[in-house]
Amino acid sequence: MHLDVSLRIQLLRPTASKRAALSAMQAEYTRAVSLLLESAKELDTTSLGRLHREAYHRIKGEVSLPSESLRVALNQTCHIVRSWKARLKRGCEAKPPVIKRLQPIGIGTRGYRIAQDGNRFVLRLTTVNGFLWLPLKSNAYYRPYLEALAAGKAHQGDAKLVEQDGRWYLLLPTRQEVPEATGCNIVGVDLGVANLAVVSTADGKLNRFFSGRFVQARRNRFFDRRYSLQCAKRLDLVRRERDKEHRWVKDVNHKVSRAIIREAQKLPNPVIALEELRGIRERIKASRKVNRMLHSWAFGQLIRFIEYKAARAGIPVVRVDPRKTSQTCLKCGHAEPGNRSRRAIFKCQNCGYELHADLNGARNIAVKAAQTLASGYTSGAMGLLTGPSSLPPVPASGQI
Ligand SMILES: [Zn+2]
Repeated sequence: MHLDVSLRIQLLRPTASKRAALSAMQAEYTRAVSLLLESAKELDTTSLGRLHREAYHRIKGEVSLPSESLRVALNQTCHIVRSWKARLKRGCEAKPPVIKRLQPIGIGTRGYRIAQDGNRFVLRLTTVNGFLWLPLKSNAYYRPYLEALAAGKAHQGDAKLVEQDGRWYLLLPTRQEVPEATGCNIVGVDLGVANLAVVSTADGKLNRFFSGRFVQARRNRFFDRRYSLQCAKRLDLVRRERDKEHRWVKDVNHKVSRAIIREAQKLPNPVIALEELRGIRERIKASRKVNRMLHSWAFGQLIRFIEYKAARAGIPVVRVDPRKTSQTCLKCGHAEPGNRSRRAIFKCQNCGYELHADLNGARNIAVKAAQTLASGYTSGAMGLLTGPSSLPPVPASGQI
């Protein structure tokens, strides 16, 4: 079966001249989207074909971009105009779209290649001034995908280059063949605040709680101390306290992720299922839970640690859509917010089934992952992320 997976890989810090080239390309790309958008508004069209016929060639002469990037800019523009028109149609008040910020650089599927050089992977980007070679920061988790791409055994889609806090990332959609996941034990991991993580299989064979209570208590102490230092204008100490807290958070995340892997390894052929949190900010309706979580703990870090350690242990990781995992009844499938009227307890308003809410969440995640694997269909960043077959052997203890 095949799976669509979206990778987010950091570029090894590019040299000053390469950074300058990337910034220049980003400015041109943004300008192209902006120009195309103005044309689309002028022509009052959402048609890709019409925009291509009447604006593409003129704008091609105005911006200095490879044609593969301009094609992506054209798609992006149509997408922007269409969602604007759709909002108007629904009767929403929506101002005509304008490009205000720098856009991630769109690079078409034929505008780049992944090359392998021994242990290293390099992005070969086509620019108007020839190829730009950009080494990638790869790890055990990305390796199987990058190897497949470099060997031409996987398909690549239109990619993006994004700058965040001075670092560049490649967002790389890929489709590849993976072995069937039958006869595996799917371990759902529900992340949250009251419990940092709850680990369970759909059949309840495995249940483990990682309480978040000690975390909250300790963080409150950190907060109080920082607050009093701030009042005392000891900013040097404030920074030191903050670093200390970051180190502590990282340590907790290491311990929890390690313990989760160890739990999963108690079962034969384990697969770990996680909620997809990455990219949630862009999603239109992030659930309340996800929003709360994003601000309350370094969950992104915890997820990265789980993925990384799972990859090292040869355990595949499946990401599932987080929507309604906490509201859905395991027994009858009924989903409504009323099922969670008491926060800690899940109680189905349809069939009366009751369970600890986080346990219900973890099992739902496992069920969703099983459905994802059975259908062989995944979308966006969700899917089977690591295949055990192509990973290095695991130490018996599975500890990292
Ligand atoms: Zn029910």
